[in-house]
Amino acid sequence: MTGLRVLLRPVRGRVAGGVVLQAVAAVASLATFAAVALLAAELMRSTVAAEAVRAVVFFAVASLVVRFIAQAVGYQLMHDADIDFQLAVRKKVVAKLGRVPLGWFGQRNSASVKKALADDIEAVHYLVAHALPDLTAAIVTPLTALAVLVVLDWRLTVASLVILVPFALLFRVAARRGGRQGERLASAVGGITKAVIEFVQGIAVIKSFGGRTRADNRFHRAVDDYMTAFSAVKGPVLKFSSAAYALVSPAMMLLATTTAGTLFVFWGLVEPVEVLPFVLLGLALTAPLVIITYGPQAFAAARAAASRVEELLATPELPQPAEPKVPDGSRVDFDGVTFGHQAGVAALRDLNFSLEPGTVTALVGPSGAGKSTAAGLVARFADPWEGEVRIGGVDLRDMDTATLYATVSFVLQDAGLLNASVADNIRLGRPDATVSEVHAAAMAARCHEVVLSLPRGYDSVVGEDALLSGGEAQRIAIARALLADTPVLVLDEATAFVDPESEASIYDALSTLVAGRTVLFIAHRLYTVVDADQILVLDNGVLAERGTHAELSARDGLYAQLWRASRGPEVLTGGER
Ligand code: ADP
Repeated sequence: MTGLRVLLRPVRGRVAGGVVLQAVAAVASLATFAAVALLAAELMRSTVAAEAVRAVVFFAVASLVVRFIAQAVGYQLMHDADIDFQLAVRKKVVAKLGRVPLGWFGQRNSASVKKALADDIEAVHYLVAHALPDLTAAIVTPLTALAVLVVLDWRLTVASLVILVPFALLFRVAARRGGRQGERLASAVGGITKAVIEFVQGIAVIKSFGGRTRADNRFHRAVDDYMTAFSAVKGPVLKFSSAAYALVSPAMMLLATTTAGTLFVFWGLVEPVEVLPFVLLGLALTAPLVIITYGPQAFAAARAAASRVEELLATPELPQPAEPKVPDGSRVDFDGVTFGHQAGVAALRDLNFSLEPGTVTALVGPSGAGKSTAAGLVARFADPWEGEVRIGGVDLRDMDTATLYATVSFVLQDAGLLNASVADNIRLGRPDATVSEVHAAAMAARCHEVVLSLPRGYDSVVGEDALLSGGEAQRIAIARALLADTPVLVLDEATAFVDPESEASIYDALSTLVAGRTVLFIAHRLYTVVDADQILVLDNGVLAERGTHAELSARDGLYAQLWRASRGPEVLTGGER
């Protein structure tokens, strides 16, 4: 409960006010029913007192008015509170996201951010704006009705409520069976979700192989499992729960109160007119039972959601400097840097190297050597365990975030385009850039023509009407980096999966981008590193070699080995080293 209470604290007053007003509305609506019963009693007297009838009618109308006002104001309060709550939490989460290390945004984390920002807030919204007011009415209405009826005639109240005994029994049976089978159903639903994902991801393969593949079969099996589990749960459970709810339906309640009332009149225990309040208010006793049985679910969902949001808000942040420093120049230094993703497992060990201003440095090495990790540290994806990373002589930990992002930008394998217009995607690093600046960047990145050929040109939205190939997306990411115009650039060579024509354009675009900047690029294919000013060879987190292509080729080390492997047969048949 604590997470939920903390999240709702800022709007607590209004939520409480809304609950009280809902309770007032519930009592007022019962008062209207009571007035009708009173009116009937007055009218059935042998001599009708006009004064009394007028008073009762006034009371009925007044209670109606009170009910509508209380309900409307109550709903308004709760909806306002809900909207403010959603805005506040979303702002908090977004502010938080701005302060967590960039390295934190992995696959799993993106999913949890999405869940917190959308689904979890929705669950708390449902509780505040819908479940709480409904539940308030569902509890206050029958309790008030019960109190009134007990005061009028406790014997008739008890007789009318006898019907609740079989209801409770049937409901208990249904709940017990449901609980037992619920887990099986949940796991069958999980099975279907997994099979659907597998099915959709593999749909091209499934189609091209025509017949039933494994994924296809698994999908069918998951659906069969679900159907079996569903009938096992729903069959017996539904039988009992439907019978239970049918027992407390308005028609059954009418039957119960009129039967009990008729018997009481027959036995001379009450006057016929005294039965009327029971017939009318009896309906209010059981109608909200359905809502009450659903209420705890909404609370449980909101509690779980709130604790997930709290957990997200508790993510450790990158510490910000008390007195930020401004870098002098664009030289990058790694000074004794040791770092790992998991405690105790260093991915980089005692790295020492410098990137001279305006030069291109290539990072090469076997897969898993630590290239991406080292490149990420330049953009402060995380802080090193030991040593420091400096730009322009300033430790990244002494730079504030705005300065850091004005100094370093990165183009990664995944172009990272947002679901926004192409123009806004290019403008990301400089939101105030003019249209002609955006066009100039796109031209330099060799993607202007591509963008113009989209249905709405620069206004086309990525993922909607701007459907871009991998190479085109890359060039837009390059245009973005060009416009951001930072002195330091981190590149992850992404040409591995694009066609040769696209690759040539990307190469042109990159040449424009790197000119005059301090560049660190992760090379996946060695022939792109030949022209680099400096090559750093990483091996298992350690700097194994450093030099130019010519120097490293002459030395028969790891680089020469990698180079031979990448050229393959040519080398073996006596080609150049
Ligand atoms: P490269 O880019 O050279 O292929 P990486 O920098 O991606 O190498 O990885 C270096 C080491 O760190 C590898 O052992 C890898 O398994 C590990 N690693 C990379 N990213 C993570 C992560 N997010 N969590 C845990 N370990 C990671």
